[in-house]
Formats: sequence, structure tokens, C-alpha cells
Amino acid sequence: MTVVSRTMSDVPYITLLGVKIHRVDMSATLALIREYIASGKPHIIVTADASSVVRAQNDAEFQYLINAANLVTPDGFGVIKAADMLGTPLIERVSGVEIAKELCRMSAEEGFSVYFLGAAPGVAELAAQNLKKRFPALQVAGVHDGYFDASKDSEIVAQVKASGAHALLVAMGIPRQEKFIYENMQKLGVCVAMGVGGSFDVFSGKVKRAPEWYQKHGLEWFYRLVKDPTKIKKAATLPKFAAMVICRRIMKASFRAK
Ligand code: UDP
Repeated sequence: MTVVSRTMSDVPYITLLGVKIHRVDMSATLALIREYIASGKPHIIVTADASSVVRAQNDAEFQYLINAANLVTPDGFGVIKAADMLGTPLIERVSGVEIAKELCRMSAEEGFSVYFLGAAPGVAELAAQNLKKRFPALQVAGVHDGYFDASKDSEIVAQVKASGAHALLVAMGIPRQEKFIYENMQKLGVCVAMGVGGSFDVFSGKVKRAPEWYQKHGLEWFYRLVKDPTKIKKAATLPKFAAMVICRRIMKASFRAK
């Protein structure tokens, strides 16, 4: 089933363990981004994966800002499966890396400009260059790495604003990227901003995405963990997520039985 939103206010959503997630597919997501840009006003997109949902349980600020975002897309096999198990199915996975790529494609076609903020020095430039090779009409409004002290936030925000970008991709990892966007959204001057995690590493060619088979079978996390054992902390949230979903399902079933 495809949900095509006509206006920004009518996007259906579910609540998964206290976290809002919209029932959108990629085409609805791009249609919304187009509307956000046409409105000229600031909008925030969050991509919620299992680790974000787990983090939101103990980080009230993070949970608040996810639920306050204009659009929250389901990012990951775990979230899709959990929504199915709890009887509130979503449509498909709409991940940050895929949205970022499709946003660049759409921007090249429709004349929007994109600012790339995040990742190690040099990586955002390389990511933007590679995307420009792929979509030659893409307007890169600016690039900046994501390794700066919080005291530099306002300087970076001013650079993004001065660039006149329509869209801002922030690749500084969860939850820093979401908090940076939320705190600065009114000053950034962009119409849409979203956190994209490790996407610049992928676009730059520094990191390879898991092969399709792993993605299809919900094992992307395993592939990433084998390639980069420092991801253990993130992978460790997955059993916690599964346990929370199973508990919620049992609770729901027992309420129904009463
Ligand atoms: N990063 C950054 N600034 C920081 C910490 C991390 O720009 O202070 C970048 C890091 O180089 C990487 C991205 O943020 O490109 C996070 O990638 P990861 O795969 O950990 O993101 P996830 O999708 O798991 O949040």
C-alpha cells in the first residue's frame, strides 16, 4: 500500500514504545520534502531506527525532539518488524542514507541546494563530490566536517545560513545530529534538515553498505559490526529493543484477553 500525503498535516503515524513514526514510503517522504521547501519554513526530519527507539526510553530530551519532528521515517528492519508484531504495520523502510541519496537526485532535478555537515575532515567534500558526479546538476551549497566543539556551533550555523541552502544533511551520529538540528533549526535558514548518521562515509566510499541480502534479512547491523567492532554498543541495543517489543506485545495481548 502506498500512502501519498496531500498536505503536511495529514501524514498518518504510529507510536512505537513512545516514539512517533510516520507511515510513509520513499515517494511520500520526497513529496513532503518538496512541500517543506516550497513552504520556505524550517522542517525537521528524523529517521528512527531500533537504537533511537531504545535511546528515547532513557533520554527524555531525545524522545521529545523525535516526537516534535515534522516527519519521522522508519529506518531499519527492526522498527518495521516491531510495528508488524504490535499490530500497527508501517509501509517500508525509509532510511537516512536512501533519503539523502533521493533528496540529492530530486534537488538536482528541481534546483534545490544541499549543505553537507558532518563526518571526519574531508569526508563530506568527498561525499558531495561523488553525489555531484552521480547527479551533475546538484547544487552543493557548502560542506563542513562534524568534528567541532560545541562553542563553534553558532559559527557553523551562520555558515549554513549564509550558504542559502534549501536542505541540510547532518552526519554527526545519533543523538548529536538531532540535538544540533533541533537547537539551531530557527537560525539555520534551511527549509529541511535531517540527521543522516554514517551516510557521508558511505557516499564518500570510505564505508560500504551491507550487501542487499543482509539488508533484506535484517542483518545489516551484523555486517557493520563485523566490519567495525566499535559498533558493539549500538548492536547491543538490539536485544533490548526486541525484549521491549515482546513485552509490549504480551501486555497488549493480556489487555485484550481481559
Ligand atoms: N561524527 C561526527 N562528529 C562527531 C562524531 C561522529 O561528524 O563528533 C560522524 C562520524 O564520523 C560518522 C557519523 O558521525 O560519519 C556517525 O556515523 P555512525 O555510523 O556511527 O552513525 P549512526 O548512523 O550509527 O548514528
